[in-house]
Amino acid sequence: GYRSRAAYKLKQLNEESHLVERGDTVVDLGAAPGGWLQVAAELAGDEGTVVGVDLQRIKDIDGVETVRGDMTDEDVRTDLVERVGEADVVLSDMAPNMTGEYNLDHARSVHLARQAFETSMAVLAPGGDFVAKVFDGPDLADLKAAVEREFRYVREVRPEASRKESSELYLVAKRRLTAPVREGD
Ligand code: SAM
Repeated sequence: GYRSRAAYKLKQLNEESHLVERGDTVVDLGAAPGGWLQVAAELAGDEGTVVGVDLQRIKDIDGVETVRGDMTDEDVRTDLVERVGEADVVLSDMAPNMTGEYNLDHARSVHLARQAFETSMAVLAPGGDFVAKVFDGPDLADLKAAVEREFRYVREVRPEASRKESSELYLVAKRRLTAPVREGD
């Protein structure tokens, strides 16, 4: 069994969009309790590398490295990029603490997805893929346009497992067009 129902969302996203392959290096942001990490570790296999980051501690998973940290903190992002080197896939299921106030929850979720996108720009190999959860709303279009400039294809996907929370969707971006940009480059 998996640690979270969220695991089935990544399975479905992966079946439709072929994200994680054997041997891949995968970065998973907002990874606790670890359902996506379990699925990513199965898909990447023994030759793969899977690194998960969350504000919360993540209980050990075989073959997975975990980092406890805040992805809005620049030092945490820099350390992660140094640790990983180059990734094939960057995933983000980060979500804010929900207040129930629609505009605030939307804005916070877009902010987290932006941090994930910026991380992907620092760590993702050319041709690599990026996925980020975001709550639908007025700020999504700008984020999506920014992602579209950097990837060959970008789709909005609403996995079956998340139909109930109707405002939740995933931006699925395939095939990064350029190489990572790092500070000092
Ligand atoms: N994909 C996970 C799984 O399969 O188990 C579920 C992730 S859960 C929906 C969202 C996670 O995002 C929470 O664990 C939360 O702590 C994390 N999160 C929210 N803001 C974050 C931040 N600034 N940095 C790191 N993690 C964050």
